Amino acid sequence: MKIILSLYLVLAVVLAQFFAAYFFSKGRTSYRKAFAALVLCISIYLFGYLMIINSSNLQEMIFWNQFQYLGLPFISVLWLTVALLYTKTIYSLSGRMSLLLFSIPLITFFVRLTNHWHHLFYTNWEMKQFAGYYSLYMERGFWYYVNISYTILCLLSTVIVYLIGYVRNKAGYTKSHFLVFFFASLLPLIGIGLILFAFDERSIDYSALIMPISLLVISYGIIKYDFLEIRTLARETIFENNLAGMVVLGPGKRIIDYNKAAEKFFEAINISLNNHPIEHVFGQEPKLMEVFGSEDSFDFSVVLNGEERFFEIDTVPLGDYHDGKVRMLKSISDVTEKRRIQEKLKFLATTDSLSGLYNRSEFMNLAEREFAWAKMNNGELSLLIMDLDNFKTINDTFGHAAGDAVIREMGSIIKASFRKTDIAGRLGGEEFAVLLKNASLMDAKKVAEQFRETVARRKVIYEQQQIVFTVSIGVAAFDGSTDDITDIEDVLRMADNALYKAKAKGRNCVENYGILETNCDRSPGNNGSFPLLS
Ligand code: GH3
Ligand code: MG
Ligand code: MG
Repeated sequence: MKIILSLYLVLAVVLAQFFAAYFFSKGRTSYRKAFAALVLCISIYLFGYLMIINSSNLQEMIFWNQFQYLGLPFISVLWLTVALLYTKTIYSLSGRMSLLLFSIPLITFFVRLTNHWHHLFYTNWEMKQFAGYYSLYMERGFWYYVNISYTILCLLSTVIVYLIGYVRNKAGYTKSHFLVFFFASLLPLIGIGLILFAFDERSIDYSALIMPISLLVISYGIIKYDFLEIRTLARETIFENNLAGMVVLGPGKRIIDYNKAAEKFFEAINISLNNHPIEHVFGQEPKLMEVFGSEDSFDFSVVLNGEERFFEIDTVPLGDYHDGKVRMLKSISDVTEKRRIQEKLKFLATTDSLSGLYNRSEFMNLAEREFAWAKMNNGELSLLIMDLDNFKTINDTFGHAAGDAVIREMGSIIKASFRKTDIAGRLGGEEFAVLLKNASLMDAKKVAEQFRETVARRKVIYEQQQIVFTVSIGVAAFDGSTDDITDIEDVLRMADNALYKAKAKGRNCVENYGILETNCDRSPGNNGSFPLLS
């Protein structure tokens, strides 16, 4: 019996020493340090008990009992400390709190040390023999009961702390840990109960027998919890090294945290981040104040090293708080490349590659929008439809590639001849259209005439051959008050009609839709009948 008990205790002491060393060496967080101190105290206590049951006289026993009190008074309070830190009920042990928690254990330590003077702890002791081993039998004094009451109070608090941790915690994994620790902390309480109420002749220290078991359970739990810490660490690393800048805002829109990318982003625009409310940090930057003050997502562009870069600033709400205070994560992603690709795709989808003007569908979209605006605001607009004259002949004479060169040239003449606000497109083949904003029919006719002349004067040199070409133009206008013109297609039809007239009048000519008198002046330029080699 004595041998089995001794073996059990030796094993427990070795294990406790191992855990103490392990947790001291890994004491990165305060709960691990507290846990290392706890297992050290337990190992002192168990070692003392091991020596007591192996002692052969009373003097030795008293000595080892004294030895036990190097660790024993602190066990329960350290048990509670671990629970408080581990469940994050507190984040560190302040000096005042340490004094509050550890004063009774310290007094116990001294009372036990000086017991032979005052006998406040043990009033009497004697050695008893039972089934081949000796045990120490003590009569308890006043302070013994103070100490045991405090011990029970600490252990009960520990149990409650784990229970609250279990109830409050949402993460299932941590939750189940707290439940295990809750039961592990009940065990020493049962041990003390047995000592107090089932104390018998054998004078067995039940809590010494039970403690190694709960120690094992808690050690296992904490080592496993380390993996949770790794998970937290992984999350922190992802936050810290994310390519997107991240800024965490707490209540009062105070900057609570930010990562390297965010720091770099703000450095580039001469703002240094710190843990202040956003008014302090972005006070001079109204746009950033708006972006960070709002819960919406924003586009933000800034010139960095002479190059315009685009950022998307998104908001992720953090947690579900009912205090009405906002906590959010602002993520800043550089979307410059994405934007450029989008712009390129949009350009390809809306632009005619030969002339560089809008393609038909984009031209119609924009023209429709302009028409709608003019109709609503009683505004004016004019439409020019232009068709190259005898283009088939150019193709036939100089080849299709030469025809293409003429279309390209038309594109650049159109771009150079009209205002930036006008909308120009290639409707197909050798047909073009230009929508003039805020232009009456008279204005448009004048512009069209000038343009016709410009084209007629222009030559395209293709494989050392000069190609001259002309254009016929149909003009139509809309002044916002005309009810029977309902959409841009109507205006297009009117301009087409005028173009048809211009072609009929002999080409290289401007015609308008309506009753206005027109004269088809074809100078300068050729006579409109066919393109010439010159
Ligand atoms: P009109 O003065 O009456 O407009 O006579 P036209 O020869 O210009 O008219 P028509 O519609 O008979 O011929 C247009 C020609 O334009 C026919 C077609 O082969 C040519 N064409 C259409 N698209 C292209 C193009 O992208 N490149 C070239 N090179 N030719 C084109
Ligand atoms: Mg033509
Ligand atoms: Mg044509």
